[in-house]
Amino acid sequence: MTTTQRQKPVFRFAPSPNGPLHLGHALSALINQDMAGKADGRLLLRIEDIDLTRCTPDFETGIYHDMEWLGISWERPARRQSEHFGEYQAALQQLIGRGLVYPSFMTRGEVKTKVASHEAAGVPWPRDPDGSPLYPAEDRELSEVERAERLSAGLKHAWRLDMRRALEAAGSNLSWTDTGDGERGIVEADPAAWGDVILSRSDAPSSYHLSVVLDDALQGVTHVVRGLDLFHATSVHRLLQVLLDLPEPAYHHHRLVTDASGRKLSKSEGDTGIAELRAKGLSAADIRQLVGL
Ligand code: GLU
Repeated sequence: MTTTQRQKPVFRFAPSPNGPLHLGHALSALINQDMAGKADGRLLLRIEDIDLTRCTPDFETGIYHDMEWLGISWERPARRQSEHFGEYQAALQQLIGRGLVYPSFMTRGEVKTKVASHEAAGVPWPRDPDGSPLYPAEDRELSEVERAERLSAGLKHAWRLDMRRALEAAGSNLSWTDTGDGERGIVEADPAAWGDVILSRSDAPSSYHLSVVLDDALQGVTHVVRGLDLFHATSVHRLLQVLLDLPEPAYHHHRLVTDASGRKLSKSEGDTGIAELRAKGLSAADIRQLVGL
């Protein structure tokens, strides 16, 4: 890396190859490209493929193809998260060693049943900003002996951040600076709203939250430009950045492309897929226009 490169602002587009790219991705990639261009910055592409059950090489190839067709240039090679599990594991071990992370043993089904029986009694269960129930307290409260017994018995487990301890360890008030289409300026982070977030699953050695903050730091990303659907996740990212002593990037959470009923697009919606639109004869310029750029 040359000195000039090191000083330039660094942007990244970070799709998951678990489906075809759609208009929402195109908007994000194009905004990244436009902002990087204006700032005389660099644009990186990161393939977020930690979920090995849903991500496929074909979808990854589709991403490269769609990006090229859209006229977006990025620095090669793209970073592929599945090639860096060791780095995420090392950070996880560090947090485990500091007593900020604990093993959790409840399956999704068990959590669901627990929440349902609680709510059947008329008491709402607390939920995170995405609407998922917060993880119950039981595993956090297990004694060290019980924990060790379960681990040595080989029980399937994930690793979760002990939010209360993590907040104590991070100390100061957490915030970030946002220049996007939602709340702007200095935004107060509220990681507690997410409860004891998962950092590593039994079937995936890292979580989105852990790998995204580590990669942004490892790749020297200075500007995180992504959709407003990830606005609240930034609270968790800021907490992890402080705990792991990682630099704080600038954030820009942009508007989302919505369907006719105002819902955020998902990868399953065929009529908005970039490859489908290309096959129908649309040009890259048409896509720009369709996403309102
Ligand atoms: N991989 C995430 C997604 O496809 C985006 C992550 C990010 O930009 O921080 O939704």
